[in-house]
Amino acid sequence: MALNRRSFIRYSSLAAVAGVAGTHHVFGSTKIRPTKGNGKGLSLSFVPYELQLNHVFTLANSSRKTTPDVLTRLEIDGVAGYGEASMPPYLGESIESVTRFLSMLDLSRFSDPFQMDDILQYVDSVMPGNTAAKASVDIALHDLVGKLLNQPWYKIWGYNAANTPNTSFTIGIDTPEVVRLKVAEAAPYKILKVKLGMNTDREMIETIRSVTDKPLCVDVNQGWTDRVKALETIHWLKENGVVFVEQPMPKAAIDDMAWLTQHSPLPTIADEALQRLPDVIKAHGVYSGINIKLMKCTGMREAHEMLTLAQSLDMKIMIGCMTETSCAVSAAAQLAPKADWADLDGNLLIANNPYTGMQVVDGKVTLIDQPGIGLNVMKNVF
Ligand code: MG
Repeated sequence: MALNRRSFIRYSSLAAVAGVAGTHHVFGSTKIRPTKGNGKGLSLSFVPYELQLNHVFTLANSSRKTTPDVLTRLEIDGVAGYGEASMPPYLGESIESVTRFLSMLDLSRFSDPFQMDDILQYVDSVMPGNTAAKASVDIALHDLVGKLLNQPWYKIWGYNAANTPNTSFTIGIDTPEVVRLKVAEAAPYKILKVKLGMNTDREMIETIRSVTDKPLCVDVNQGWTDRVKALETIHWLKENGVVFVEQPMPKAAIDDMAWLTQHSPLPTIADEALQRLPDVIKAHGVYSGINIKLMKCTGMREAHEMLTLAQSLDMKIMIGCMTETSCAVSAAAQLAPKADWADLDGNLLIANNPYTGMQVVDGKVTLIDQPGIGLNVMKNVF
């Protein structure tokens, strides 16, 4: 299918900005394909895709209506896997940085997609950082390999699909009127994730409690700076049916955070304080658990390693996401059977999802028995 005019103009200008050398793009068939390298192996395509959010999304320190995103496609011998990089602005990646990173890769040198270890070590070695860009290749490769094996990843890993948790639905910081509307919108969900960290914390919780008695979890996004006040608030939150507290204090406040976790009547979960595998060790003893997100940790392979390591350290596991399409959410959902909590609502927050995949049925993460990450393409953007 053809790119619409807006996407065409956006891509054309981005390609110019990013300097995508050797990129081959044919509008009409709309293939956007880096042709770097002469090998006959894996072929990577990618296309920028701006996510339109259903609501303005407000965190402790930012507010936005769109999220930049890049969709990827990895093909060999006529079989294609799909991936995605989602870049919330506060994480430092952008469409420019992701397209630049992906243009540097030469995956055509790999003719055996099952050599995932070699392929992903190569991708990781090209440049430091760029975790969302790396995740977009990792997810596409997992999807491709799962399709070649004709099995979904939760089965390849040996997980029981019946063990998935309920997913939380996120309520952003807003006026009481809007918060009540969002709670009504969240009717199908059994647990709500409430964003806190501004000066309206108690008002947010009281507003929600005036309309529902569902269990809540809260995400403070580093918004509290005084550990004694933080502990008082956590006790109050526990009385109000909150089950855990995510990233209550700044990620650099390690000593305060360790003290808070030691005294807290609720589990504390590291999010901003943790990105990749070595950070699990650093979070041990400082937080009760970790929030694993594919965009932070370079994808499914490292996420699986982090999960295994954290559980061996008796830490709680949350599988989270950014605002992203059903692609990355379905990839993350493959790990959900081993998670204590899931926050996999990213696809539900956007208005232009080109895929379907993992479903939320009666509030629960529900895996689909389809190969790879279990994705169906509803709108072909390649
Ligand atoms: Mg968070």
